[in-house]
Amino acid sequence: MTDAILLRNGKIFDGKNMLDGVHSVLIENGKISQIGNDDIFIGFMGQSHDVSGKTILPGLVDCHVHLCYTASGDPRADGEKMGHSEFTLTALKNAQATLCGGVTAVRDCGGRDFMEFGVRDAINRGEFDGPTIYASGKIICMTGGHGHVHARVADGVEEVRKAVREQVLAGADLIKIMATGGVMSPGVDPRDAHYTAEELAVGVKEAHGLRKRTASHAQGTEGILNAVHAGIDSIEHGIFLTQECIDKMLAAGTYVVPTFAALHNILANADNNDGHKIPNFMIEKCQQVTEAHKASMKLFYEAGGKIAMGTDAGTPHNRHGKNAEELRFMCANGMSQVDTMRMSTFNGADLMGLENHGLIAVNYVADILVVNGDPSHDIEMLADKNNHTLVIKAGKII
Ligand SMILES: [Zn+2]
Repeated sequence: MTDAILLRNGKIFDGKNMLDGVHSVLIENGKISQIGNDDIFIGFMGQSHDVSGKTILPGLVDCHVHLCYTASGDPRADGEKMGHSEFTLTALKNAQATLCGGVTAVRDCGGRDFMEFGVRDAINRGEFDGPTIYASGKIICMTGGHGHVHARVADGVEEVRKAVREQVLAGADLIKIMATGGVMSPGVDPRDAHYTAEELAVGVKEAHGLRKRTASHAQGTEGILNAVHAGIDSIEHGIFLTQECIDKMLAAGTYVVPTFAALHNILANADNNDGHKIPNFMIEKCQQVTEAHKASMKLFYEAGGKIAMGTDAGTPHNRHGKNAEELRFMCANGMSQVDTMRMSTFNGADLMGLENHGLIAVNYVADILVVNGDPSHDIEMLADKNNHTLVIKAGKII
């Protein structure tokens, strides 16, 4: 049981739009119980915070993180030296940093031998502070596919079906299946389709049959189309989108999770020798795909496609806790401030299937971020966590 908290006289972004005027928000028993003019709360005796000049919004939702990755220059190399206990503590530490960065829910899109599941369960039970976590467990990829070293490698429809069942048995909340090569594994090309259309279709159908959502790392055009035809819920990265991809995704309602921060932080730190240097193959592949990625995201956004915020936090120099910076990159790529705010709150909860989250509305879970000023006019009020003034998770001030 948490104490009642009253946030007084703030602007509100409710998860979809900026509301007119200023309002006060009452939080009781972990939920939003009342929203209105401050007059109705006269005589309130509990804890209250004057948030005039600030904006109240739903806690951010990051639909693509890797809690087990360290975000050093070479997280893979770090991982080779880490034992189980260190992975678990790393995931907990990263989850807590994420919450302190204003993110109250995440989708973990690829862990390490299910070690993140214990952290997820402990946080979701309320034993530790952290964001609400949905986790995919092991990624599923073909022999030699992107991320295969720590994946559940599966070839052919029967094995893909079995791999999905294994992840669900282990406790996965969603299924992550790799449709193409990628940037962060050596020796694979992001443009190549990995898996046939048939293998992907079987994997997605099996996941949906077991009531699990699906996400696909999909960068090249053919693999994106295979994943969309399979009925995938979200395309991660989506580097080489064509008009055909966009038309089919709009018709199917497929989300894109852009993860601008992943490419940005590799290119921005190409010469950073702090600890591990970023492997050259990653930098080279990033340079080759970044313009195509930006152009694809612009086309998809302008076409009115569904976008949810995701960072790929944990990849090189892509720090857990700095997730909100993704909104800066989204705006820099032509998205409006308010749209990026919607993508980072309501849309994220929608993609995760997280009920009663992602809106400032009565009876919704009180996952709330308060920031200085008005991020719908200046996204830095949200993108720079120094402008965050309060993070509330399920009614508890963090
Ligand atoms: Zn990822």
